[in-house]
Amino acid sequence: MIEVETKYALADPAGFAARLAGWAELSPRRDEDQYFNAPDRDFARTDEAFRIRSIGNTNVVTYKGPKFDTQTKSRFELELPIGDGPEEAARWRAMFVRLGYRPTGIVRKHRRIFTTSRDGFEIQATIDTVDGVGTYAELEIVTDDSRYPAARDLILTLAGELGLTQLERRSYISLLLQKSASTREPKQLDDVAALRKFVAGCRRDRKKIGFVPTMGALHAGHAALIERAKAQCDCVIVSIFVNPTQFGPNEDYTRYPRTLEADRELCRSLGVDGIFVPAADEVYPPGFVTYVDPGPIATVFEGAIRPGHFRGVATVVLKLFQMVQPDATYFGQKDAQQVAVVGRLIRDCNLPIEFVVVPTIREQDGLALSSRNRYLDPTQRSNATVLYRALSAARADWKAGERDPARLRATMAREAVVPGVQLDYAEVVDPDSFAAPSSGGRALAVIAARFGTTRLIDNLELTTE
Ligand code: AMP
Repeated sequence: MIEVETKYALADPAGFAARLAGWAELSPRRDEDQYFNAPDRDFARTDEAFRIRSIGNTNVVTYKGPKFDTQTKSRFELELPIGDGPEEAARWRAMFVRLGYRPTGIVRKHRRIFTTSRDGFEIQATIDTVDGVGTYAELEIVTDDSRYPAARDLILTLAGELGLTQLERRSYISLLLQKSASTREPKQLDDVAALRKFVAGCRRDRKKIGFVPTMGALHAGHAALIERAKAQCDCVIVSIFVNPTQFGPNEDYTRYPRTLEADRELCRSLGVDGIFVPAADEVYPPGFVTYVDPGPIATVFEGAIRPGHFRGVATVVLKLFQMVQPDATYFGQKDAQQVAVVGRLIRDCNLPIEFVVVPTIREQDGLALSSRNRYLDPTQRSNATVLYRALSAARADWKAGERDPARLRATMAREAVVPGVQLDYAEVVDPDSFAAPSSGGRALAVIAARFGTTRLIDNLELTTE
């Protein structure tokens, strides 16, 4: 069975309960969930979960597989009853620990559960008050594979009807762990000397160092990178640097959003260990002349429209790698051509860095989160959904067997014919070279468009998603 589920932070639990007036309410209950990590893999990394749940006197063991999509928390779930009572739960815990499973934390919550049926589905809404975390609403349908898309659409419609907007994809256990980690202030690192001293301390403690380069104006997309780094590393460093060399003369370097205080707060809440915020002349001191040339990929698509952009990106990324010397680095699939350039840079320069690409985080209507979305006025914001619609249309054609890049391009272009939208490109490419895809190889749909003076880009892999 599949659990189709969404979760939202709840500012007004009483108001939400009032909107569920027509639903049946079950008896309230108190759950205690003991989570474990596996001996052979890291569940935080594989997005799996394993727990003993105690509902009053009743115990069950639950396994949850990785999430299927980015808009809901839908995943495979297997839940099996074990014996009743706290001693039985303790015996199973001892058994898992013997087998090498490590207890990671205990989530305790009070649940109000409401049910209703609609369109042939049984729907459950819960109001969870989680100790030490906060109050959340969950919507859930358990269904079989064949009805998953219909169940997912229904859940998203219901969320809209019930006024749920603040989507929360993190599990209660990760929220709890982050909260306990986030009581520590991240170390503020303003120059390379301070950074190196901090990194040397981490190395002495044999910590695995994860690095997330950003230009600030942080949002949930950046948070996903940081969370992944936190899950895989012992020490996470985030850089915030609006890199002048990747902006063209007529681009938005000076007006690029700078929100350092809010960025620091987000980093603190995620348990970031160090924030590196160098000044421009710390990165590019007087006399700086050495640049990285990323080759032909830097001259197509984003590189053609923004000459010099990837030279600036590759240069600053290599410099930041040299300064931080991380074990692993985290980049967003959102910037697919940047992923290709940085992946190549790491291979070509034999950099001993694990390169982790994190899936794109989107708004509910599919718009990829971007620091530039804040430039959009309401009409442009609504028009901006054409990007994901066009990519999804290409993916639907691909799934139906269409392989002709010209026809896939035409499908995307058709979707983007909207007043106020100026399409820069819509194409299907090989994700490594950004040249035409080879037959039978991987294929990535890429798109860029302007909404007034704001340019947005997006992409969707056709071969795997
Ligand atoms: P930026 O601050 O725009 O340079 O982005 C810093 C990193 O965050 C890059 O690796 C981006 O690809 C990544 N990123 C930006 N937006 C998103 C998103 N919506 N989902 C996932 N990663 C993102």
